[in-house]
Amino acid sequence: MHIDAAFDSGNIEVVDASDPAAVRLRIRPDEGGDFFQWFHFRVAAERGVPQALRIENAGSASYPAGWEGYRAVASSDQRTWFRVDAEYRDGVLHIQHTPTTDLTWYAYFAPYPWTRHQALLARSAAAPGVRARVLGQTLDGRSMDLLEVGEIVDDRPVVWVIGRQHPGESMAEWWMEGFLGRLLDPADPLGRVLRERAAWRIVPNMNPDGSVRGHLRTNACGANLNREWHEPTLARSPEVKLVRDEMDRTGVAICLDVHGDEALPYNFIAGAEGIPGWTGRQRGLHDTFCDAYVAASPDFQRAHGYPVDAPGAANMTMCTSAVAARFGCLAMTLEMPFKDNADLPDPGVGWSPERAMRLGAASLDAFGRTLGEL
Ligand code: ZN
Repeated sequence: MHIDAAFDSGNIEVVDASDPAAVRLRIRPDEGGDFFQWFHFRVAAERGVPQALRIENAGSASYPAGWEGYRAVASSDQRTWFRVDAEYRDGVLHIQHTPTTDLTWYAYFAPYPWTRHQALLARSAAAPGVRARVLGQTLDGRSMDLLEVGEIVDDRPVVWVIGRQHPGESMAEWWMEGFLGRLLDPADPLGRVLRERAAWRIVPNMNPDGSVRGHLRTNACGANLNREWHEPTLARSPEVKLVRDEMDRTGVAICLDVHGDEALPYNFIAGAEGIPGWTGRQRGLHDTFCDAYVAASPDFQRAHGYPVDAPGAANMTMCTSAVAARFGCLAMTLEMPFKDNADLPDPGVGWSPERAMRLGAASLDAFGRTLGEL
């Protein structure tokens, strides 16, 4: 039996792989050591032999509640990802699977490969009216890619959509692919209308270094980017600094920041209710967007989510709060599950790339309704 994670977004440490019935593994923490939960590794072993994989440090991961009711993701071809049985007990995550092939990949969620990110950029940039721009470089020397859809002219509102500040939340970039696919589809009537009605500024991956390194939450120097928006610097959080500077140039009418939540088995939006000076206009736009999203997709809901911040109690280091306050605009955080949508479960795949992409496509209805009220 051979196990490795020496590839794009790989993460595992092998303690002992001598017995397929008791494989001992540990998740490697992000740079800085504060966070871990993302795993992604390959097992090469004789097909038909049951594998019992024990992640021994699961109990001290960033979100132990994420393991309750969680089933791991596996693939034999890196294209189709299915769920396999997992059980969390006594601080250890036990994954049970009997592969029908000799090579199996296991992950916390279906990975979004770096090569696929390049292909998404190339395909999007080839669409009419789209420009690909590089805002600058990350600490590991990767490009911070921005897609510009439409010119900023007259009083046309500027809509920012960013995803995957937390690199282990790969569903965010699957969402982006579905969103961009529909926005740029020449045959989609709503996409055509929305490209006329607003200028779009889209960052499909806010954390390239963390994504490739196999991090859960941080960039190359261990900075949690969604805690850097009050005072980003090129030395510590260039990803945020570059994007926020560009926001200052363009202005922001709407900002949607796309994430995944380890524990809650629902799709939901968190708002900027707790910022100083939260206005009735911001509340009205927030409700319009969320209600339209509910109408557009049975996978979205408003009953379950984070507790709403009391007035003045917002964490101003986060994108949604900082942008809502800085620009007086509508800003929201979209959260998707690692597990499944408990309102509409699919035991075979759980929450999946295909479902995240459809939720991304459905967001156009919510954007359309909200742009009509600006
Ligand atoms: Zn997140």
